[in-house]
Amino acid sequence: MMYPINEIFYSLQGEGRWAGRPAWFVRFSGCNLRCPFCDTNHSAREMMDAQAIIEAMKKYRADFVVLTGGEPALVVDEALVNALHDAGKYIAIETNGTRPLPPGIDWITLSPKDLYVTNAKVVLPRANEVKVIFCDTDIPSLDDYAHYPADYYYLQPCDMGNADRNKDILAATVNYCFAHPQWSLSLQQQKIIGIR
Ligand code: SF4
Repeated sequence: MMYPINEIFYSLQGEGRWAGRPAWFVRFSGCNLRCPFCDTNHSAREMMDAQAIIEAMKKYRADFVVLTGGEPALVVDEALVNALHDAGKYIAIETNGTRPLPPGIDWITLSPKDLYVTNAKVVLPRANEVKVIFCDTDIPSLDDYAHYPADYYYLQPCDMGNADRNKDILAATVNYCFAHPQWSLSLQQQKIIGIR
């Protein structure tokens, strides 16, 4: 099996429960959604098999691997999960939840997009953490997400590329967490400290 890889890089996980943890990021090419705020250029691809992906992560011995995209659920399969486990990796995935996942993934981050685009209905039955992106100061109802089966619930302000707008969205997000303490704030720490 060959997988469409956009990039593989080493950094710190910047968001959610594992923020600060050194991680290999495997970014898959392609997504089934077209979110208006998407800032990820995931169109380029190189086809790689599982062993080539593992080989590309040899330089640093971190065992934490984040499968991301694009939408990794379009291509990640049980064979890749097994190969990464055999290589001693702990596998996290960041998904929009519109596609089922193969068994065995260790940590699932659901980042639903049905607030922003049609055809983004979540089919995934559960996740370890839910991470909802806030793109406006008008906070929509998050009741559906609040009842979604997960262990952690995060709100993350969206980077709109405008400092004043970002400040207002951050303030609205913080206020929402104050009023709804089930939710915790997640920041894109990688942007704050200037790493990938
Ligand atoms: S789901 Fe993620 S990668 Fe896909 S278009 Fe939306 S923001 Fe971009």
